[in-house]
Amino acid sequence: MEKSGKGVALLSRPEINIVWLKRDLRSQDHEPLAAAEAAGIPYLILYLFEPTLLAHPQCSLRHNQFIFESLQDLKKTLGVQGRTLGICYADAVVVFSEILHKYRVKRLFSYRESGVQLSWDRDKEVAQLCLQNNIEWLEFQREGVLRGIQNRDGWDKAWFVKMHSPLINNSFDPDLTLDWKHKFQIPETLKQAWSAYPAAYQAPGETMGWKYLKSFCEERGRNYMRQISKPLGSRYSCGRVSPYLAWGCLSVKQVYQYVKNHPNAANNKRAFNGFLTRVKWRSHFIQKFEVECEYETLCINRGYEHMDWQRNEAFIKAWKSGQTGYPMVDANMRCLHATGWINFRMRAMLVSFFCHHLGQDWRDGVYHLAQLFLDYEPGIHYPQFQMQAGTTGVNTVRMYNPVKQGLDHDPDGEFIKQWVPELREVPTTHIHQPWTLTPMEQQFMNFELGVDYPLPLVDLESSGKAARQRIYGHRKHPQVQKEKQRILKTHTRRIK
Ligand SMILES: Cc1cc2nc3c(=O)[nH]c(=O)nc-3n(C[C@H](O)[C@H](O)[C@H](O)COP(=O)(O)OP(=O)(O)OC[C@H]3O[C@@H](n4cnc5c(N)ncnc54)[C@H](O)[C@@H]3O)c2cc1C
Repeated sequence: MEKSGKGVALLSRPEINIVWLKRDLRSQDHEPLAAAEAAGIPYLILYLFEPTLLAHPQCSLRHNQFIFESLQDLKKTLGVQGRTLGICYADAVVVFSEILHKYRVKRLFSYRESGVQLSWDRDKEVAQLCLQNNIEWLEFQREGVLRGIQNRDGWDKAWFVKMHSPLINNSFDPDLTLDWKHKFQIPETLKQAWSAYPAAYQAPGETMGWKYLKSFCEERGRNYMRQISKPLGSRYSCGRVSPYLAWGCLSVKQVYQYVKNHPNAANNKRAFNGFLTRVKWRSHFIQKFEVECEYETLCINRGYEHMDWQRNEAFIKAWKSGQTGYPMVDANMRCLHATGWINFRMRAMLVSFFCHHLGQDWRDGVYHLAQLFLDYEPGIHYPQFQMQAGTTGVNTVRMYNPVKQGLDHDPDGEFIKQWVPELREVPTTHIHQPWTLTPMEQQFMNFELGVDYPLPLVDLESSGKAARQRIYGHRKHPQVQKEKQRILKTHTRRIK
């Protein structure tokens, strides 16, 4: 049989595989890398900064900085093993199409991504390109998250089986390395911005991820449960592995097995078990988003789409910049701007204050926090944000009173004074409610409320009451009730 000119040209191209890194920036316990190695033909390892995805409002400079620096760390690790890592600045289809001009690509290996709609759409385009070019795309399960499931039957068991399965000990054969000179260089201005990593953020990369995990087990984790909600204490005593998990510098299985099997586990049962429970929650939330990524833009319980939301630009601006007049809210927002991390309770309080006390639509705040969290993970972020906003219709709505949270978790106002320096001279007795200072007291402190620090945006008692009426009142809406059944069936375990 005669081959066409095009066919001959295609067959004369070298046959290769590709490993496409996404949120898996590590060299160990990496299934796609192991599969490419086992395939025995040369393969490219690629990370793509995709302009179309980077333009999505979820993205921020700090994410790109973390990724860029984690890639430098990975490059070093792979370099020691004689491997190269290609970093491109172009959309996936553009890069893969270019590779096809030079190589015959047999297989594409990657992890599955439980991302926003835009990344699903991109994946569909890549799948189409693979189909047209006879490329087999092998996507591996990430985080114990399953694709295509209709309900949670058997999910917990499958998660534990996955977590207890052996870790992959990746090795790299230098003979399989490929050095592809490409034209998709990161523009110089971006490169400069991405490599100027602020010291106030957690240091990026696989190597640092292990340092945090080890120090948690060896020392920091001892008081985990006692400190978990304290804005100051939690910075030391929490795991602080979230950015490394979010960008895949550590795998969930590595973290799970390391903590579970650590010699200190027996003496720190409550702390380590509390930590491991949350590691499972992580996958639980990502699983929800994997099944319904519409949570990014639509209420989990679609019945809440009928609720009236207001938009007050001044409120939104004040919340975003930490100028609400509520010290605990403002300190947390400013700390987040500066460091990229606050604990779970403080995140929940920020959302609760925004959606309940300020009465704003969760959609007007959700990308702001996504951009600020160094550990932004869509699968956790949107479901958690909506849980705190009260739009699931299945969870108890918790309204966090920022004054109470301050009194309970920062009684001396130490955290507040660190992040809201305008209040440094305010005595502990008034630090959580500076509006209770009399004009005379303010004068003694050389401080004027409404000038040096804002007056509170709302009255907590009346705003809380109005929010309860709005949210609980709407719970009775027939569509909320109908949706509740659908949500329970899809996202929770069946009670036998
Ligand atoms: C509105 C809101 C948005 C959030 N967005 C994110 C996000 O984008 N990315 C993110 O990683 N976490 C998010 N969280 C969950 C939680 O606040 C962080 O995971 C945690 O603060 C990370 O710090 P840590 O690593 O010290 O956690 P630890 O307390 O040490 O917990 C260990 C790990 O368990 C997981 N985890 C902990 N708490 C939760 C939780 N409540 N739900 C799901 N997984 C959890 C994380 O992966 C964490 O790294 C969000 C919470 C809220 C209320």
